[in-house]
Amino acid sequence: MNSRSGGGGATGSGPEGTRRMDPDLHPPPPFPALHRDEHAAVLLRLTDWLSGAAADLLALAVPVDCVCCGAEDRTLCASCASRIRRLARSPFRAESGAPALVDVDGTIMLPVVAAGVYRDELAQGLLSFKRHGQHQLRRSLGRALAAAVRAAARDGSGVLLVPVPTGTAAYLNRGFSPVHLLLKEAARQLPGLNVADVLAKKPGPGLLLPGRMGGQKGLGRGARAQRVRGSMRVRPGNRQKVLGRPCIIIDDVLTTGATIGEAARALHVAGAQVRGAVVLAATRPPDASAPATPVPIPHGRSHDLEKNKPGKDE
Ligand SMILES: [Zn+2]
Repeated sequence: MNSRSGGGGATGSGPEGTRRMDPDLHPPPPFPALHRDEHAAVLLRLTDWLSGAAADLLALAVPVDCVCCGAEDRTLCASCASRIRRLARSPFRAESGAPALVDVDGTIMLPVVAAGVYRDELAQGLLSFKRHGQHQLRRSLGRALAAAVRAAARDGSGVLLVPVPTGTAAYLNRGFSPVHLLLKEAARQLPGLNVADVLAKKPGPGLLLPGRMGGQKGLGRGARAQRVRGSMRVRPGNRQKVLGRPCIIIDDVLTTGATIGEAARALHVAGAQVRGAVVLAATRPPDASAPATPVPIPHGRSHDLEKNKPGKDE
């Protein structure tokens, strides 16, 4: 119905794929054997370097401007890439800034970890990526998302990462789903965590009105929550995948929390244990009055937005 890009969360292939060779003809490399994870890290660095080199070559042939500062360089120049790294260096708990995720009495209904605040290069980079899906931005932003997931799901092997579905109209407009692409990139760096692309949007009356298709900008909290309520479901064939499984919802930007709340509701209805959500950026900075960030999402706890209060401990 929408994205075809999600699903595979597989990390790089390890040394198993190497064919057996005569050790005399092919002496072992002059460095000690690497652990599988180290191998993966080396491969990732090599891939990064190769695509960096390719981007440099391409920039010589086709001049491009940095999407953030406009410098004639790559799609994302080195200094803006490093600014993005800095902006996403300290993931924080962000749900207190999202009214749809906090009850009137201040009870947190769903914990959310954000990689950074939606501003400056992080916002510009993400905005440009959502429009055009540039490869370099995908790598940079995917890395930031991976770090936030790692902070949220500490020791969370077996946790399923569930991307928020893109609306059909948005998908048709762009031809890709930014969240799925970013999550795919992030998942390469998250061994032990699997992507479960199980959510879909139900076609609703909102989708039939041309001119109202392009998202929720300008809608207030109430209107937004009302518009998304009941708009998602776990695809019928995918219920077994999430039944009883711990899940973390993945989205790009946290604003009111209505979208993530709806994803949590749909997963809960399908029998999943929703632990919380991770976003690349939150529009509100961390609450200054809150105690120093207890970032990880608590384990063994499922949140149930359907009942409008936190779920019971497992
Ligand atoms: Zn730049």
